[in-house]
Amino acid sequence: LDLAPGPHPGMPATVLGWILAAAAAGVRWLVNFALVVGAILLSSPTVRAADILHGIDERVLEIGAVGIGLVAANTLVTRPALLVGVVAGLVAMHRVLLLAQYRTAARTDATTALATVAWWREIAEQALARASAADTPLGVLVLDLDHFKRVNDTFGHVAGDEVLRAVAQTLRSEIRDTDTAGRWGGEEFVILLTGIETDLDLAAMADRIRRRVRSLELVVTSPTGPVTVPNLTISIGAARYPTDGTTLNELILAADTACYQAKTDGRDQVRLAIAPPDHPFS
Ligand code: GH3
Ligand code: MG
Ligand code: MG
Repeated sequence: LDLAPGPHPGMPATVLGWILAAAAAGVRWLVNFALVVGAILLSSPTVRAADILHGIDERVLEIGAVGIGLVAANTLVTRPALLVGVVAGLVAMHRVLLLAQYRTAARTDATTALATVAWWREIAEQALARASAADTPLGVLVLDLDHFKRVNDTFGHVAGDEVLRAVAQTLRSEIRDTDTAGRWGGEEFVILLTGIETDLDLAAMADRIRRRVRSLELVVTSPTGPVTVPNLTISIGAARYPTDGTTLNELILAADTACYQAKTDGRDQVRLAIAPPDHPFS
């Protein structure tokens, strides 16, 4: 840029000045690009170069960065003090937009849009702390679809994923806003229930979910076209704070054991945890 005619920093004076400025920008972009792509390829050997170069969002981001760079350059020449505003705006936008996107992505399961295990645990731990402080009960459900492997084997994994999404939607619609449903793994779900006063409440709630899943009429995409999935059922284990456990792990374990009991008792049923006899609350 020093070589170009015209003041530096400042607007290029002639066509040659503009060409040199554009060339400088190109060289800077190339160096930056080579460094970033090179670092990614060196640190992640499984990533292909084409995968890095494809993202349209990144290109848009780069164009946006060039635009802000022009404003920043102009401000630097005319009113350097105002650069503080540009930087503050950038930092704020970065934090709010990007971090919010990443946070949501990390908290949401991609297939079902339910909470991920980590996020569900975080919410449950907080709810447990509040329940403990206010001396109020809580419910934990562990749910496992029955013979789900058959759905995949019969209709394919695309159909399987559609079923998972439909079940997740059912779970969401059956619980209240203060309750939280999460995807524990594969075809297993967890639900945190607030405002559960008695074992009877808990059993009623769990059984309502069981009946709703059973009554779903699922039309899914199979290799031969749309088909109806027959007889989808779910087994549910339920545990209540504080009677079945006082820590989250104890509650999950109790509900999981109850769910396993529901499976061995014939599936498509709800089982309540049996409080250990030496438990202080039993
Ligand atoms: P059970 O009644 O004993 O629970 O039988 P099951 O077949 O449901 O249980 P199993 O644990 O044997 O199989 C679970 C299956 O869930 C295996 C796998 O094919 C399927 N699965 C796990 N995650 C996903 C997923 O993300 N998408 C699809 N389509 N299937 C999944
Ligand atoms: Mg399972
Ligand atoms: Mg299963």
